[in-house]
Amino acid sequence: MPVYISRDDRYFQDNYQGIPGNGYTGVIEKMLDNPRIRVELNTDFRDVKDSIKFEKLIYTGCIDEFFGFRFGELSYRSLDFNFKPYDMEFFQSVAQINYPENYDYTRITEYKHFLNTKSRKTTVAYEYPQEYEPGGNDPYYPIPNDANNNIYMKYNEEAEKLSDVLFIGRLAEYKYYNMDQIIARALKTFEELC
Ligand SMILES: Cc1cc2nc3c(=O)[nH]c(=O)nc-3n(C[C@H](O)[C@H](O)[C@H](O)COP(=O)(O)OP(=O)(O)OC[C@H]3O[C@@H](n4cnc5c(N)ncnc54)[C@H](O)[C@@H]3O)c2cc1C
Repeated sequence: MPVYISRDDRYFQDNYQGIPGNGYTGVIEKMLDNPRIRVELNTDFRDVKDSIKFEKLIYTGCIDEFFGFRFGELSYRSLDFNFKPYDMEFFQSVAQINYPENYDYTRITEYKHFLNTKSRKTTVAYEYPQEYEPGGNDPYYPIPNDANNNIYMKYNEEAEKLSDVLFIGRLAEYKYYNMDQIIARALKTFEELC
């Protein structure tokens, strides 16, 4: 964790920082609002992969899962989010405060700061670090170390042989991306495909 001693209370150090005016929900809703897009929720890729026809598949799930774990399992970090409502306008003065020691949770996020939401009440999320348990919780962060990098390289070699499947995103590329980076990655991929 980098430590900054300054009066800048923002988490990141980029000069220009922001989020979409209606949040990411608004962006995704607009993107999906197209008659040519069909969304199937609660549907595992593995259950439908043989019944869906495609020219190009963009795969955003775990790359080890795609290849049936044939070179072993990659490890991931997970989190447990405990959402707590409070009967007060604000719980904390900024969106996110980290607790690197002394507590079981590692940060508290108060989302209403992001979009300047007006409400007499608030909800915050306490984040508790967890190991990833397939089927039990979600894989959030890749764990880059020699063992995992070696496994990933084997999967990546297989992935490069498939001309009709693109592996994109933090799970498919086993690489941490922030939102600005993954959006840039998606736009670049779109340009290349076109
Ligand atoms: C706790 C946390 C906090 C973060 N905070 C920030 C932040 O403050 N600022 C910032 O810029 N970024 C943040 N990020 C990063 C941001 O969330 C990622 O950059 C972004 O979500 C990456 O997009 P993606 O498409 O690679 O992956 P995802 O958004 O994870 O999309 C992958 C999709 O694939 C689906 N999928 C996976 N496997 C299957 C399967 N077998 N079948 C069907 N669907 C499947 C998943 O359900 C998911 O919808 C945070 C990430 C986490 C985990």
